[in-house]
Amino acid sequence: MRYVSTRGTAPVLDFEGATLAGLAADGGLYLPETWPVLTRDEIAAMAGMSYVDTAVAVMHPFVGDTLTRAELRELCSRAYAGFGHDAVVPLVQLDARHWLLELFHGPTLAFKDVALQLLGLLFERFLAGGTNHLTVIGATSGDTGSAAIDALAGRMGVEIFMLHPAGRVSEVQRRQMTSVHAPNVFNIALDGASFDDAQALVKAMFADRAFSSGFRLSAVNSINWARLMAQVVYYFHAAVRLGAPDRAVAFSVPTGNFGDVFAGHVAARMGLPIAKLVVATNVNDILHRALSTGDYASGPVVATQTPSMDIQISSNFERLLFDVGGRDGPALAAQMAGFDAARAMRLTDAQR
Ligand SMILES: *Cc1c(COP(=O)(O)O)cnc(C)c1O
Repeated sequence: MRYVSTRGTAPVLDFEGATLAGLAADGGLYLPETWPVLTRDEIAAMAGMSYVDTAVAVMHPFVGDTLTRAELRELCSRAYAGFGHDAVVPLVQLDARHWLLELFHGPTLAFKDVALQLLGLLFERFLAGGTNHLTVIGATSGDTGSAAIDALAGRMGVEIFMLHPAGRVSEVQRRQMTSVHAPNVFNIALDGASFDDAQALVKAMFADRAFSSGFRLSAVNSINWARLMAQVVYYFHAAVRLGAPDRAVAFSVPTGNFGDVFAGHVAARMGLPIAKLVVATNVNDILHRALSTGDYASGPVVATQTPSMDIQISSNFERLLFDVGGRDGPALAAQMAGFDAARAMRLTDAQR
């Protein structure tokens, strides 16, 4: 599988390259060049499969040139062995027609464990034994930091530096991050800073060529394709338990950076019958406004009880705009440059 950038000019990479790169060199995000499509029979066969077997069936088309089925299965088994429920992501019935997919049984209790536990093993696998050394830098308001640190602690070939605003992450997550004794984990608490300040420092480090050229920097937020890929699995896993491929299921997804719900879009592209994807937001509702009016306009961030959804720029939305808007990299690059300048842009008819 070849991976292309949403902005059209970064080098085309294989799965390993896209996983290690994070952001593309042209400022875009990597996506598969084409969507692999699973047949009805292949989807139906998932009904009796374990989570790990479903993961292999869904992800192998994306990784086939870099990992064999057996290698992928081994990584998935290890990634999900640490989950506290035998079903990994149990589906719990709420009432006659509503079900809840519990994604919080991973080691740090954040749903991000589902993807990051696998990403940590992929990094180690691609870096071990080689001369490549990866320096992961991130900013967190809690969930991403503790899940990424748990996933990368002790892994060969990679170091993680995680910035958090002092006094502004929950006590549980502060301890999850800072009580890890691994030589490759570095926590940096920023006094008097907000999450946005921490995020701005990370972006500045990536943009500072004199600084960043000395390292191979990477990111663990959901701009990383491998993270989204790992999330596609549970859409299939849940849907076949609720009657797919004979019945289409709708998913309502709490959304921040548009990673989780974009994985649902990928599942649909791969042939899973999805009746509807509901993009759920809190009061920071840029995505709701964009999809209902066509105006993607960023306002001030309002702090809420759901900090992972407090965003005014949703990175992975760019992947959707590219995929449904004709996959025209140069046109999207121009559109995003306009957004960077004006903090607002108009979606095309195809993009809505
Ligand atoms: C990360 C996170 C989100 C947002 O997910 P995206 O993939 O960024 O849209 C929502 N809720 C919780 C609890 C999260 O940890």
